[in-house]
Parts: sequence; structure tokens; C-alpha cells
Amino acid sequence: AKSQQRAGHFYFSRNMGVEIRERVRMMHALRTAFSQHELFLMYQPQIDLATRRPVGAEALLRWRTRDGKFVSPDRFIPIAEYSGLIIEMGEWVLRTACAELVRLRAAGHRAFTISVNVSQVQFRHPQFLPMLRQALEETGAPPEYVELEITESMAMEEPHLLVEMLAEVRRTGVKVAIDDFGTGFSSLSHLQRLRIDRLKIDRAFVTEITGSSRGSSIAEMVIQLGRNLGLSIVAEGVEDERQAQVLYHLGCPLAQGFLFARPMTAEDLAAWLAGEARQ
Ligand code: C2E
Ligand code: CA
Ligand code: CA
Ligand code: CA
Repeated sequence: AKSQQRAGHFYFSRNMGVEIRERVRMMHALRTAFSQHELFLMYQPQIDLATRRPVGAEALLRWRTRDGKFVSPDRFIPIAEYSGLIIEMGEWVLRTACAELVRLRAAGHRAFTISVNVSQVQFRHPQFLPMLRQALEETGAPPEYVELEITESMAMEEPHLLVEMLAEVRRTGVKVAIDDFGTGFSSLSHLQRLRIDRLKIDRAFVTEITGSSRGSSIAEMVIQLGRNLGLSIVAEGVEDERQAQVLYHLGCPLAQGFLFARPMTAEDLAAWLAGEARQ
């Protein structure tokens, strides 16, 4: 038993070593990739379910390594957060998305919003607000067409700090959406105090609505909650027409998902929007 324990312990720590080394390796690779401009943004359109017209797009970060492999943001964002690189990277994302918004507006897409994901680490950084104001000013992006997506888990932590931060963000004119909504347990009163603009229903609950289980779904409750608070609501991860129909009938005004469009490059987005406008 003793030797087994020891063997088990050895195995465990050796694995930890591998994991840490892998993380450090990825941290270096990510830093290099970022400085060599190997990261880029893709944009996924958001659609008005009543008119089926695009109303905005979410900027999604992509990392394509030299050998052509894509690393998922779910893997590299935590590393960027852990290493602090997210501060620089997040600023670049915001500026790039704002610049893209300005270009799209110049091409005639004037009622179009760009949504940018903001990490908790970024949002908590003391320079976040000055950075945001400067990015808006230098790119010339109209704040009311810029939206920040913060996750529900972030929205639940440190309520006082968050209430204050959101009030300041609001003063810039920028909109705020709560991402992955439904996965946490925000209370109604908490949400009211936050004064956000939009809720994004997590894909897991969208997938659920056309499932076999009867009764009111989480998506339905989120839509009701959002409507009662006078918020805009976007359903994410809409993959088929039935989901779009159900959501629309439940009162969800906006949607995003593979049914309408996959995330695309800035160039493709401009072409796609031009095509949509001609229809
Ligand atoms: P998220 O913010 O919840 O983004 C939505 C994810 O769902 C995206 O994955 C998108 O490609 C995917 N998606 C959209 N429509 C569909 C659909 O119909 N079906 C399915 N199966 N998936 C769909 P992605 O791009 O891999 O991003 C994963 C997460 O990484 C994002 O989740 C977000 O939390 C984070 N992320 C991405 N870009 C950034 C960024 O610039 N900054 C920060 N802080 N986080 C980011
Ligand atoms: Ca998001
Ligand atoms: Ca989401
Ligand atoms: Ca997510």
C-alpha cells in the first residue's frame, strides 16, 4: 500500500509538472503570437428575429498558430488572464472592434452595434475606464454602438465595485450586456441595481427549448425577467429554425447563432452586410 501511495504521488506530481510546463509553454507562445499579430477577430452577426435583419455583431478572438492550427479562446483566454497579457490583448480587441465599427458605419451600416467580450481581470484593472475612454476617442467609435459583454459570474461578485464600475461605463455611453445569462444565480434586485442594457441567454438554454421536457424553460424565464426589467435580450447559439421560432414567440427579440451566420472575418462581414442590405 505504501509503495502504491508513493507511486500514486509520484504520478500525480509528474503530471502536475507536465501541466505547468504546458501552461508556461502556451503562455510564451501566446505572447509571441500576440506581438507578431497572429491573433485576429472574427465577427458573428446578431439578428432581429422579427425582421431577420442584422443589428450588430459580436467580436470573437481567434488564435491561429504558425502551423495553421486554431487554439480555442476557451483555452487561451484563461492563460492570457493568468499571465496578465489579457490587459494588452483586451485593449487591442476593443480598439480593433471599434475601428471596425467605424469602417462599417462609413459603409452605411449606421444602426449597427459591436459587442466586445471583457474579461473579469480586464474589468477589474484600475486603468480600465481610462483605457475605454481613450479607445473610443482615438477610434472615433460612437459609444452608443459599442457594447461590453461581461459574464454573469462577474456580475455576481463584488456587487459594490461592479455597481460603481457599471455606472461609470454608462457615463461613457457604452452599453453593457450580461453574457451567459442563466448559468449563475443573479437575483432580480441585484440585476436591477446593475443597470445593464442587455441579457444574453446562454446557448445551453437555447438548445434546451426544443427538447422533450415540458413546462417553462430557463430560456423562457430569462426572457420574462429581461422584459420585466426593460432589457434587450439576445439568445445565443441558435442553430435551427425551430429554436428561432420558439424564441420569437416567447418574446425574445434578438438572436445569434449558426442558423444565421458563423463568426466571420471583418472583410467577410462587410461583404455579408452589403449582401443583406441589398435584399
Ligand atoms: P461566448 O462569449 O459565450 O461566445 C459565444 C461562443 O459560441 C463563441 O465561441 C461562438 O463561436 C460560439 N457560437 C456562436 N454561435 C454558435 C452556434 O450556433 N452553435 C455553437 N455550437 N456555438 C456557437 P468561441 O468563439 O470559441 O468563444 C468562446 C469563448 O471565449 C467566448 O464565449 C468568450 O467567453 C471567450 N472569448 C472570445 N473572444 C474573447 C475576447 O476577445 N475576450 C475575452 N475576454 N473573451 C473572449
Ligand atoms: Ca460573449
Ligand atoms: Ca455567451
Ligand atoms: Ca460562453
